[in-house]
Amino acid sequence: MALKSPQQYVDSLRKLKIRAYVGGERVERIVDHPSVAPHINTVAKTYELAHMPEHREVMTATSHLTGERIHRYTHIFQSADDLVKKIQMLRLLGQVTGTCFQRCVGLDALNAMYAVSYEVDQAQQTDYHQRFRKYLTRVQAEDLMLAGAMTDPKGDRSKRPGEQADPDQFVRVVERRPDGVVIRGAKLHNTGGINSHEILVLPGTALTPEEKDYAIACAVPADAPGVIFIFGRQSNDSRKLETGCDAGNPRFGVVGGEAMVVFEDVFVPNELIFLNGETKHVGALVTYFATWHRSNYGGCKGGNADVLIGATAKMTRILGTDRNAVVRDKLIEMIHMNETTYASAIGASAMGYKLPCGSFMVDPMMANTVKQNITRNVYQIGRLSHDLAGGFLATMPDAKALENPEIGHLVKKYHAAKPEFDVMERIKYGRYIEGMTSVTTMVEAMHGAGSPQAQRIVMLQGAQIEEKIKMAEQVIDGTDDVEGLPIPGAPSNR
Ligand code: SF4
Repeated sequence: MALKSPQQYVDSLRKLKIRAYVGGERVERIVDHPSVAPHINTVAKTYELAHMPEHREVMTATSHLTGERIHRYTHIFQSADDLVKKIQMLRLLGQVTGTCFQRCVGLDALNAMYAVSYEVDQAQQTDYHQRFRKYLTRVQAEDLMLAGAMTDPKGDRSKRPGEQADPDQFVRVVERRPDGVVIRGAKLHNTGGINSHEILVLPGTALTPEEKDYAIACAVPADAPGVIFIFGRQSNDSRKLETGCDAGNPRFGVVGGEAMVVFEDVFVPNELIFLNGETKHVGALVTYFATWHRSNYGGCKGGNADVLIGATAKMTRILGTDRNAVVRDKLIEMIHMNETTYASAIGASAMGYKLPCGSFMVDPMMANTVKQNITRNVYQIGRLSHDLAGGFLATMPDAKALENPEIGHLVKKYHAAKPEFDVMERIKYGRYIEGMTSVTTMVEAMHGAGSPQAQRIVMLQGAQIEEKIKMAEQVIDGTDDVEGLPIPGAPSNR
């Protein structure tokens, strides 16, 4: 069963006995909870599209371990073309769902673990890589949905993990046994965590040699004893619990249904441990993961913006402003920003290079530039969408007013626009735009895969400023031109 069907995915979640809390209450069957179901429905699309012949090339790949056809979400990138196809897959899924489809965190965590377990073995004669390949074979065979868990709560930001008043602010090993370890701590912002089969736990920051207990990377089944999921709050999330048109994106939800995951003394057997104390390699693990994930945003947000641009363009038709040159120019601006980030993600992938383990890494400078642009362009595209759709996004009465026989007809009458469009279309598309440009969406674009400053640090490090100064000196002061040319003011003529 290398490719699960959407139904098999949902059924497999039903079998997991996880400890989950939504809205502060213990929930036994997360699949049937209206706050979680849209996010599950989104992931189900990732399974569905893999079975469609027209999407086979981007949604599936050939396993380098077994030669089997597998889901691209469980694949180790074998070439620059694989990296490009990943970005194409993300744009496609973004277009189909209009939101975050969650599986990319697990995919990038898988790839980071694959690469680093190889490098640790080479440096320290450990056997993590073989162990990880065995784990990966199972993940591919069962087409598992993995949550990548990386962000520690971090407590006092001026202190390192080992200096915190509460040492649990970073996930750590609290007990070592012959057959495994016991971990304690929490990871925040886990995209799709509550509807995943397993969690890949990775350290979230580079560590010093004294911080061995924090250098733990491992896989944890979602229903392992001691694992607790606490579902995050989103802007407008109580709308999911109402009926009517107010939900915004009722089928697929907003962003990834993030959850905090608490590890209350969770036992991890040796076969699921892929790094244990090798602090020297944690920096590479964090960097590999972040670099792949930063390039993703040009794909997924590109697909999401396609839907938002479409909804905005439709709104201008409903309003009767679509032929106005200024309106059309604003749509062009939205398209321009969207295609720019997509092109950067494709470029970062096309320029991918081989890592020591044989898998492929995206170009780091371009990948970080993609994410940096996302922290601006998603806001700018949302701003233009608000501009074109109008102030009613923030003021329109709720679905209950529409259903009230005393006032419903008045709400409809005074929200009508072009007569060929039903007024409910204007309201429905308005709610979609409202939802997909909400605070939760924007904050995710800002901080997902690392906050903006993290990318700027990498960009400065990779920019080779000294080389650029030499280039400037050579162009301005250079003397290697063809002899005899009459170049005004050139050093050779002075
Ligand atoms: Fe994937 Fe984008 Fe969601 Fe990250 S934000 S998990 S890249 S869809």
